[in-house]
Amino acid sequence: MAESGPIISKSQQDLEKLLDHFDRVYIDRKSENSPLARRLESLFPADKLEWVDSRPHPQIRGEMSSGEFARSKRQLYVTEFKGQFFKRCPGAKPGLACCNYFVLNWGQQCDMNCSYCYLQSFLNSPVLTLYSNLDQALEELRQLGKSLGEQSLRVGTGELVDSLSLDPLTLFSHELMAFFRDTPRWTLEFKTKSDFVHQFLDVPHEGNVIVSWSINPQAVVEREEQGTASLEQRLQAAELCLSRGLQIAFHIDPMIWHPEWKENYAALVDEVAARFRPGDLPYLSLGALRFQPEQKAMMRERFGMKSWVNQGEMWPGKDGKLRYPLELRQEMFNFVLNRFKEYSPEWKVFLCMESPETWLSTYTKAPQQVDSLAPLFDQGVSRQFRKALKRSQADTNSASG
Ligand code: SF4
Repeated sequence: MAESGPIISKSQQDLEKLLDHFDRVYIDRKSENSPLARRLESLFPADKLEWVDSRPHPQIRGEMSSGEFARSKRQLYVTEFKGQFFKRCPGAKPGLACCNYFVLNWGQQCDMNCSYCYLQSFLNSPVLTLYSNLDQALEELRQLGKSLGEQSLRVGTGELVDSLSLDPLTLFSHELMAFFRDTPRWTLEFKTKSDFVHQFLDVPHEGNVIVSWSINPQAVVEREEQGTASLEQRLQAAELCLSRGLQIAFHIDPMIWHPEWKENYAALVDEVAARFRPGDLPYLSLGALRFQPEQKAMMRERFGMKSWVNQGEMWPGKDGKLRYPLELRQEMFNFVLNRFKEYSPEWKVFLCMESPETWLSTYTKAPQQVDSLAPLFDQGVSRQFRKALKRSQADTNSASG
């Protein structure tokens, strides 16, 4: 008879993967009594833990070498955050179209390793930092809520750190979901490239939690998104969340040009359309590769010229980021958009972090006029579109005059 070993649950496996991932865990003594510090202390072996009075590696300041950046993904530092936890999504800038979205940052740096990751040009700390005072973030949110009155609000959590890739360690999802249970008109969004969802599947919620995945064809995942869950694992995790009454969404972002991009993105759309119905997703967003010019050198050094992100022809946009030429972006967006529409006109697809001009050339309408996307966009965005529309009409008039 075959010997049967202990069955390890998926959430236990996820946790063990993370315990193994980190070489060192530094805990600021000032955070000693926080729930996060106590939990990490109980989980990690003593020889990985170190209590500190200040940030480790003080000699490393400012720009990091690629080796220091890689090492920072394996060193965890728990400390208090002294600034403001919430800010508006970076898309809410003049010249960019974005939905009404606030971002909660509970740490910085990511344990995964995408070739295009914007953290490479942004971070200057040699450790993956997690904040121990999430209770203060929730208090800030409570105050923000008072000033907003009855207005609805979306809160995302995956900007400087993936929303869920560290969640089996932190269990921040539990505290946030409990908070959002009391504010059902607000929406909480977890955005991830991991498949770590089992740790919160049994947490009660009010149907106002969206778990969203950035997805890409498996060929792109393999080449450009090291340490992330495979496409199949992400889709399975999404199916599981859906079966538990959580809302789900997908971001096909960043779309990356490569020789077989059409076949690969067509297969991705086919897979999503075969497994999900338009009504399963409140929205699906598209974005194309973009990054700060100063990131280029580190991307090349860390991932080499085999990486597709290092092969593309990129030009600076109005926001200073390098992007594919407008025609190529339009072609890629239209290709995916049309493929979804061939399955059903009901798919709600919008462009993320794109200029009004790209929107207008892709949809010929402002987002507020596109199907049911309107509720996602605020008055500020409406104003930007009116201006963009006037600009393009003036251009047309002067061209024909
Ligand atoms: S998952 Fe996101 S934050 Fe993490 S490495 Fe990839 S792009 Fe960066």
